[in-house]
Amino acid sequence: MRVLISADMEGISGVANRSFVLDGALNYELGRTFMESDVNAAILGALEAGANEIYVTDAHNEGVNLRLTNLNPKAKLISGSARPFPMIIGHDRVDVAMFIGYHARLGTSLAVLDHTYTSRLRLWINGVEAGESYMNTLLCGFNGVPVLLYSGDQALANEVKEFSPSALRVVVKEAFGRSAAASLSLEKSSLLIKEAAEDAIKAWQEGKIKPIVTSKPVEIKVEFIISEMAEQAAVLPGAKQIDPRTVVSVQPDIELGIRAFLSMIALAKAPLF
Ligand SMILES: [Zn+2]
Repeated sequence: MRVLISADMEGISGVANRSFVLDGALNYELGRTFMESDVNAAILGALEAGANEIYVTDAHNEGVNLRLTNLNPKAKLISGSARPFPMIIGHDRVDVAMFIGYHARLGTSLAVLDHTYTSRLRLWINGVEAGESYMNTLLCGFNGVPVLLYSGDQALANEVKEFSPSALRVVVKEAFGRSAAASLSLEKSSLLIKEAAEDAIKAWQEGKIKPIVTSKPVEIKVEFIISEMAEQAAVLPGAKQIDPRTVVSVQPDIELGIRAFLSMIALAKAPLF
């Protein structure tokens, strides 16, 4: 059994604000260590459950946060960034996936560093408001890959429950705001993540967790914070600006839908005023 562990940083144990997730910031080195701890726990759980090939994709920023020297040597680390879907590189060559250190979508209250790719937009996929966890779950689902486990704060857990109630969720911290959280110890988080990874694979083997898919065609709706951004995003062929700040694109499937979304982000530059 082949497993992909996609690891973001905002939902990692102990990560409470920006100082833990930005290269060069006060607590960044600590944040990397915390990230390695949560990821190693997932690797250990997957190994216990019989995984024989494990890829870990570093999904935060440029994908160069995890240090190979600090990871369980039985896993392969995918460092760096590759288009079009940098957060889930390798999802087309595994049987199952796990999302570690994920965060809630933009606009969630009491959620550590909530955002959806940027902090400048809200996204709906076929009418369902989406964050990175839902988006990446659908991309995996499109390739027949179920996401078995999610770890992050309590807001992420609540979000996941809406679209994937049978997947396992580990709450490693409780957010008290966008930049404050009460975290479990690394030891406690590791124990919970390891056990959940093991249980999740067992549940999948028993047929209890399936890939999540959305219907076709796929309607992508993006609401930007500023009308100028929507105007720029609507340059994308086929995209339509339906009101000053909102652009819609209808695509044949989710992969093309997310490509359209990523293209819109690239086109839309936030003006200074
Ligand atoms: Zn991130």
